[in-house]
Amino acid sequence: MEVRRRLTKPSAAAAADEPFKSHKQRHIHDSSPKASDALPLPLYLTNVLFFALFFSVMYFLLVRWREKIRNSTPLHVVTLSELAALVLLVASAIYLLGFFGIGFVQSFIYRANQDVWEVEDGSHVEQYILEEDRRLGPCASVRPPPVRKNVPVVPQHPAEGATALPEKPAEIFSPAASGDDEEIIKSIVEGKIPSYALENKLGDCKRAAAIRREALQRITGKSLAGLPLEGFNYESILGQCCEMPVGYVQIPVGIAGPLLLDGREYSVPMATTEGCLVASTNRGCKAIYASGGAASMVLRDGMTRAPVVRFGTSKRAAELKFFVEDPSNFDTLAAVFNKSSRFARLQSIQCAIAGKNLYMRFTCSTGDAMGMNMVSKGVQNVIDFLQTEYPDMDVLGITGNYCSDKKPAAVNWIEGRGKSVVCEAIIKEEVVKKVLKTNVASLVELNVLKNLTGSAMAGALGGFNAHASNIVSAVYIATGQDPAQNVESSHCITMMEPVNDGKDLHISVTMPSIEVGTIGGGTQLASQSACLNLLGVKGASMESPGSNARLLATVVAGAVLAGELSLMSAISAGQLVSSHMKYNRSSKDITKLSS
Ligand code: ADP
Repeated sequence: MEVRRRLTKPSAAAAADEPFKSHKQRHIHDSSPKASDALPLPLYLTNVLFFALFFSVMYFLLVRWREKIRNSTPLHVVTLSELAALVLLVASAIYLLGFFGIGFVQSFIYRANQDVWEVEDGSHVEQYILEEDRRLGPCASVRPPPVRKNVPVVPQHPAEGATALPEKPAEIFSPAASGDDEEIIKSIVEGKIPSYALENKLGDCKRAAAIRREALQRITGKSLAGLPLEGFNYESILGQCCEMPVGYVQIPVGIAGPLLLDGREYSVPMATTEGCLVASTNRGCKAIYASGGAASMVLRDGMTRAPVVRFGTSKRAAELKFFVEDPSNFDTLAAVFNKSSRFARLQSIQCAIAGKNLYMRFTCSTGDAMGMNMVSKGVQNVIDFLQTEYPDMDVLGITGNYCSDKKPAAVNWIEGRGKSVVCEAIIKEEVVKKVLKTNVASLVELNVLKNLTGSAMAGALGGFNAHASNIVSAVYIATGQDPAQNVESSHCITMMEPVNDGKDLHISVTMPSIEVGTIGGGTQLASQSACLNLLGVKGASMESPGSNARLLATVVAGAVLAGELSLMSAISAGQLVSSHMKYNRSSKDITKLSS
C-alpha cells in the first residue's frame, strides 16, 4: 500500500471508515490536506460541538419566532441576540454541510457513475469515461499507459507456488503487488471498478489481465496457480476472441499424419486431452497412406443465416416468401446482399413459414472466412431493403434458428452449411489385416450395425459415425475455429463397403456442414495460426479466395476418415478397452503403442 503524506494523524473513527470510502474519496482524502486537519480538537469532538450549536441555536430562533407571532411583532425586527444566533446558525450549517454534505453528494455522484474511475499517473489524475474509451478501440490505440509499478507476480506452477489456500489471500497471492496496481486491485475487489473496463482504461492488456486475475483470486479465495498468465499476447484477443482474460488454458497439440489426401501430405494438428485420440487417428492415416491415399470433393460451399420476420397475416408472410424466392428478383437481392463484403456472394434464399412468421435462410459464399459475420451483414442489408417494400414486416431477429448455428438441426444435415465434403479411400486387404488388425467383412458388418442401424435406433441426427466430433473438435481447437460449431460440423455418415471382390474396403465419410475459415476469429492468434501454417492454409488465399478454407475442410474430412477407420477397427478387433487402458491411464512411452 502506498504511504501517503498527512498533515495530522487521522482519528480512530476516520481510520475505521477508511476501507469503506470510495476510491475517489480515498484519493482526495489521502492526497490533499483539509481544513479539518488543522482543527484544535479531535474531529469527532468538533463535530459534536457544531451539531449541538446548530440545533440549540435553531431551537432558540424558533422559540423567538413563535413569541413574535404571538405578540404581533414584525419578523424583520431582530435583537442583538437573535442576530448572533442567526450568524451561529449559518456558520454551523456551513461547517456541517462542508463536512458531511460533500461526502453525501459525492456518494450519489459516484454511484451514478460506476464506470467513471481514476488512474493516477504520476502527479496528475486522469478521469476516463468508459463509453468514450470503448470507442477508442484496442489497447494499443487508447492512450499511453500510466507509469507502471509492480504488477503482482503470481506463481505459475503448483510446484513453484502456493499449494494450500492461504488464510489471507492478499498476502500470499500477490506479495509484490503495490502502488497503482494494488490500488486498482482493491477497487475491483470492493466493486468500485468494473473489471471488464481494465483493458481500455489501462491501455495495457497484459497488465489488465494480471490485475483482474489477482482481484479474482482475492474475491474467490481460490488460487489460479497452474493457469498461466505469462507467455500470451493479450493484445491479440482484444475485441475479437475473449473478454476479461485472466490467463490461458494449455491444451497439448498432437500431430496425426502424414495424411495423404488428394496427392498431398498433411501433418494434422489436433488439440486434445483425450488420450488415444491422436494415436488412433495417426494409425488411420497410416492405413490410408499405405493404401495409396484418400480423395475428397467439396460438394457445396455456403454459409447460412436465417432471420425471422412476422406479419399481420400468413398471407402477407407468403407474399414475401414468393417475392424472395422468385428468380427474377434474385439479382436485385444479390446486389443488395453482396454490398456487405467483396467476398460475400449470395447463392440462394430458402424460405419456411410458420403461421404468419417467415424464416428466410440466406446462403452465401464467404471466401476464406468461416463467414458468420459476413453473412449477417449481408442479411441485414437485405432486411433493410425489404423493409421499404414491406413496411408491415416486423423483424424479430437477424437469426431465427433456421440457419442453424451450433444446434443439431436437420436443415444442416440435409441442406448443408459451410462446406459439404465427401472423402473416400480404398483400404487394401493386407493393410486392414496388418495395420488395423481386423478384416474387411467384420468392419463392413460393424459399420452397418453400429453407424447405420444403431444410430437409426437412437434417432440420430447426422450422427451416423463412430466419433467424427472427436477429430473435428481437436482440429478446430488447434486451428482457431469456433469449437461450438462442432455440433453441426460433426454431422457425418460413415459408409463401408467391400470392393474388389470383397477383398478391399471402400470407406467414405460424407460431411455436409463443415464450418471452417482460415481468416478471422481465432485463426489469427499465434498458436492457431502456426497450426494453419503447418497445413499450408494460413490466412486468405490471394490467388483464389476461398480455396484455403475449402482445403482445410477437406483436411478435416480426411482426418475424420482416418479416425473412423481406426476406431471402427479397434472396436471390430475388440481392442477399444485395452487400447484406452493403455493410452488413457498410462504416462509411459506411447510411441510404441500405435502401430
Ligand atoms: P467471419 O465472417 O468468419 O466472422 P470476418 O468477416 O470477421 O469473418 O473476417 C473476415 C475478414 O477478412 C473480412 O473483413 C474480409 O473482408 C477479410 N478478408 C480478406 N481476405 C479474405 C478472403 N480471402 N476471404 C474472406 N475474407 C477475407
